[in-house]
Amino acid sequence: MAALAVIARFTQLIADFEKVVRRSRRGDDGRGIIEASDRGHSLYHRFATFLAFYLKNEKPSVEEPGAEQLDAVHVMTIHQSKGLQWPVVFVPSLTATRLPPGRVGRTREWLIDERLFSRDRYEGTDDQERRLFYVAMTRAREWLSISAHRTPRVRPVRPSPYLLEVAGGEHALRTPDQLVLPVSVGGAQIEPEGRRVSFSELAAADRCGLAHWYRDIVGLRPALAVEMGYGRAVHHLLRLIAEDVQATGRVPSRSAVEDLLDREFYLPFAPRRTFAELSKAARRLIDRYVADHRDELHSIWATERPFELHLDGLVVTGRADVVIRLDRSGSVPQLAIADYKTAAAHLPDNELQIQTYAAAAAGEGLDVVAGWIHDLPTGRRAPVPLSEERLRRATDELRRRARRLDEGDYRPRPGEACRRCDVARLCRFAVVSTR
Ligand code: SF4
Repeated sequence: MAALAVIARFTQLIADFEKVVRRSRRGDDGRGIIEASDRGHSLYHRFATFLAFYLKNEKPSVEEPGAEQLDAVHVMTIHQSKGLQWPVVFVPSLTATRLPPGRVGRTREWLIDERLFSRDRYEGTDDQERRLFYVAMTRAREWLSISAHRTPRVRPVRPSPYLLEVAGGEHALRTPDQLVLPVSVGGAQIEPEGRRVSFSELAAADRCGLAHWYRDIVGLRPALAVEMGYGRAVHHLLRLIAEDVQATGRVPSRSAVEDLLDREFYLPFAPRRTFAELSKAARRLIDRYVADHRDELHSIWATERPFELHLDGLVVTGRADVVIRLDRSGSVPQLAIADYKTAAAHLPDNELQIQTYAAAAAGEGLDVVAGWIHDLPTGRRAPVPLSEERLRRATDELRRRARRLDEGDYRPRPGEACRRCDVARLCRFAVVSTR
């Protein structure tokens, strides 16, 4: 494990480096792509410098994989905590000079041309700091402590104005001996947070437990794929078109869609030729979609809609590509969930994915009456059964998969998946030649 963890760290460093230096950029007119170099002496020289810099500045410790899953206190900055939640959260050190920091809003002298960056973003504003405070306060699911200490160093400091606003003035702050410790909330014992797992994680672990272990537990990063981001770029364009229709009430013309593609379609690592080919493919998909589903574009209820399915001790998260409103009469709209696939091959989990979102939607009180897997290359739609029985079977399946992960069952499943498996060279179960 320790040896693998070292290799994994090395793959992470390569990935970090490549994501920056091999990223192409748009031409100065906002169109066309300027490729980054992916070979040559200078690239390796830069990598050597990057490694030397890393070794000098970091203590290259190798953490045992899985440490982050320990039942322990997580200590982190507010920025690092974005998007995460815990049952109990402490936000200490809310003093007048720390949040907002004393320098916020003060004009500073910059050595970089100010047209190249947003001065506000780096000098900070009260609004930004309040938003950050809001992020900190909303990380707790059950119990939140916000506090300040009177003498961080030698001289006493005042509490943060944000803390005072929430407390209702300095007189309302409590001293440590008056604190009510988070033993219970509203008379009920704090429930341990359910295990949160994304649907894609459950799907990947089911395709091959060992591949999942290599990637997500050990942390091996795959080699950079030139087509990386294609599916996401197509989803992004569809979302922009849907938002445009919602805002204007009109389906964009063909030339407007062309313009949008020129402006917004971007693959960070594709060389020019691959970019041109994939850009053409994306054009075909989008044209077909807009031509076939003009009416539907007027009925889009949400795009990239996050869902959380709460089962006992388990929360399965995911994001549906698009939710369509089927009827406009009732106060609770009848909805359909569609998932767009950009690759021709359909994984067997596609149905399960939509059923997961439908079950989560039911938990929110939404009425999802249809689900479709939409194959963008062919324009075909496969309906997904959403009867109560099918949703019950789907949730049983999710529980079974989560249990296997909890039990550390990372069994290999050699087969078709080995062909596209990026850890096949390390795997003694691989069933295809990888050389
Ligand atoms: S090569 Fe095959 S068996 Fe091995 S980890 Fe990859 S998918 Fe699993």
